[in-house]
Amino acid sequence: MSTKESKNPFDSYVKNLELCAEKLKLDPGIVKRLKYPRRILIVSCPVKMDNGEIEVFTGYRVQFNEARGPYKGGIRYHPNVNLDEVKALAAWMTIKTAVIDIPYGGAKGGITCNPLKMSPGEIERMTRRYAFMIKDFIGPYIDVPAPDVYTSGREMAWIMDTYSMAVGHKVPEVVTGKPLEIGGSLGRESSTGRGLAICTREACKKLNIDIKNATFAVQGYGNVGIWGAQILASWGAKMIAASDSKGGVYDSKGIDPKKLLEHKEKTDKVQGYPGAKSITNEELLTTKCDILLPCALENQITGENAARISCKIIGEGANGPTTPDADEILYKNNILLLPDVLANSGGVLGSYFEWLQNLQRDTWTEEDFNKKLLDKMVKAFNGVYDMSQKYKVNLRTGAYMIAVKRITDATEKLGLFP
Ligand code: NAD
Repeated sequence: MSTKESKNPFDSYVKNLELCAEKLKLDPGIVKRLKYPRRILIVSCPVKMDNGEIEVFTGYRVQFNEARGPYKGGIRYHPNVNLDEVKALAAWMTIKTAVIDIPYGGAKGGITCNPLKMSPGEIERMTRRYAFMIKDFIGPYIDVPAPDVYTSGREMAWIMDTYSMAVGHKVPEVVTGKPLEIGGSLGRESSTGRGLAICTREACKKLNIDIKNATFAVQGYGNVGIWGAQILASWGAKMIAASDSKGGVYDSKGIDPKKLLEHKEKTDKVQGYPGAKSITNEELLTTKCDILLPCALENQITGENAARISCKIIGEGANGPTTPDADEILYKNNILLLPDVLANSGGVLGSYFEWLQNLQRDTWTEEDFNKKLLDKMVKAFNGVYDMSQKYKVNLRTGAYMIAVKRITDATEKLGLFP
């Protein structure tokens, strides 16, 4: 463990890439191409605020790689959005779409802003201006954005509308994660949490853990964490701890995920849930349980706290919650870590299903959607697991090896222009 651990998420990506290139004995020229984004767009978006003053927000769209299909990735609104973070998220999307084996590349976008301190009108004007400024660089066959932290179907609807007005006809397939009324898909909202739950259940089978007797803890009780918890609980697993940005709760007798959601909707936090003890986020991460689901932000499990993690399986619902130093410690401690590029790929898989329906002007039932999701997730999990067993590496390296092989094979077949 190094004492000066890098917290730059793009460094984590490059480190994982190099590790996997070494194992696969890849051509250094091809690996070099995977260290750079194809295109970075930085825009300044002037917005008239409610008080009449003009504010200028910086927006990004990083298109990382499109060897396997159109760029694909979410748009994040957060005060910490910066180029390194967006680059890392775009690179992870490239790996993720290849791990789950759908015909997309990887991209990500974001605006540095604090949407919690902005009115809906201000957010709409900022979103539409950003959409207009990137409109020539996105499109159903070019780059298809989706929601991420602090963006949702509402923002996707504004982007779709702005884009459609610019091109002169409705283009629902330009974004995914839309509301149902304008081309969204049944099943999409729960797809990330469902994919996470499916991967976790498959991992339990490998470790001979009966899901019905398994206990789990969720860091980040938001979209991914809530759906993951509800689906695992529907299979009999018991949630014993959960947290959000304001702190956590613990009850060894079990916490009902639906009732905790009702409590959070009423009080805006998980703490104060009847009968449960208040704990800190640090305590949540080190809770003794079978399954730990980090579903909040990056860099939560680090070289400093990894040795104190006390579970058998970690399912990364969030992107980048574990640093490379922590990965090494967890692997040595025999903790099976399901990496983000596999464990939360149900989200982009769900987006792909929505895009397919839009392109064909078709609608699937939720049952159909969930069945297709299950099949693809199980196949991806087993592919990654087998690769990690074959090369005696952790699942993250196994996932990267599968993805990088698919991307480099496509890159080689396409050739290099000119
Ligand atoms: P969200 O905003 O719905 O939920 C995030 C939750 O984390 C909130 O409850 C928030 O209070 C909590 N949180 C924030 N900081 C925290 C902290 N320090 N400790 C504990 N909890 C904290 O966001 P989401 O859509 O669920 O996304 C969560 C993560 O999952 C992100 O990393 C995102 O990139 C990733 N992800 C989301 C999707 C998706 O479809 N929503 C898909 C793939 C990956």
